Amino acid sequence: MSDAESKRLDPNVRQTAAEKATGDRTDTLLRTDGLVKTFGGFTATDEIDFGVDEGELRCLIGPNGAGKSTLLKLITGTLTPTDGRIYYDGHDITGLAPNERVGRGISMKFQVPSVYGDLTVRENARLPVQQFADGEERRRLVAESIEAAGLAGCEEVPASSLSHGQQQQLEISMVASLEPDLLLLDEPVAGLSVEERSEIADRVTRLNDEEGIAFVVIEHDTDFVAEIADKVTVLHEGDIFREGSTEEIESDPAIQRIYLGTDGDSGGDRR
Ligand code: ADP
Ligand code: MG
Repeated sequence: MSDAESKRLDPNVRQTAAEKATGDRTDTLLRTDGLVKTFGGFTATDEIDFGVDEGELRCLIGPNGAGKSTLLKLITGTLTPTDGRIYYDGHDITGLAPNERVGRGISMKFQVPSVYGDLTVRENARLPVQQFADGEERRRLVAESIEAAGLAGCEEVPASSLSHGQQQQLEISMVASLEPDLLLLDEPVAGLSVEERSEIADRVTRLNDEEGIAFVVIEHDTDFVAEIADKVTVLHEGDIFREGSTEEIESDPAIQRIYLGTDGDSGGDRR
């Protein structure tokens, strides 16, 4: 019997629920347990049990109103769950404030681009970095962040004059600067050209491969999802409908039906 095994079987070694779900002896980075969010009488997420492994690149898809953005906002603490728990890296983080979760390694890029239009590219890139670095290190990290966004040479340009694709790249740089272990991206390529999409796909894949950052990416574009995803989760009416490889999801006729809203009484229209 291995050391780890004998420890696990030892009744004197107590594990909390959080340690059991996402502790040292598992690969699971994040786990939600029965996560519920209601708005008035409407249930946006209905007892979701969702998990992400360390270093995994997960895509989250599903019709409009399925609860995708709500799930990510519950994970970041932007929204407070009505019921259920969230475990991260061995800890129960359900009660933590959003900034405390950022400190633990969870960052999110929201659906609406949120670079500061009046500030220059350099000033935007500096915002997250200045929270933890100064002097020469700060200058180096800011320069790297701008370079990674493909914006070298545009340092003094106001962010409002960048293209939509460049703004998305800048914003990914800003959240990646916080050195997260888990990065949540809500529709990062919506409204972008094919070329801009493939640049974002490269960027996300590189951050995942080279820096080991785990991702949850909400996206509708099936080519984009097929290019980047290790695994796909399909949400429908506030719960997990399917989980599998891109091939399994693409070949599943039930998934076509939920998008067309023809899978029964309620359909896919929860807008
Ligand atoms: P998705 O991102 O999958 O399109 P959302 O998570 O944004 O869906 O929303 C899920 C459902 O919850 C939708 O029907 C939406 O109208 C509702 N909803 C989301 N946020 C709120 C809110 N702040 N107040 C009331 N209803 C909301
Ligand atoms: Mg959404």
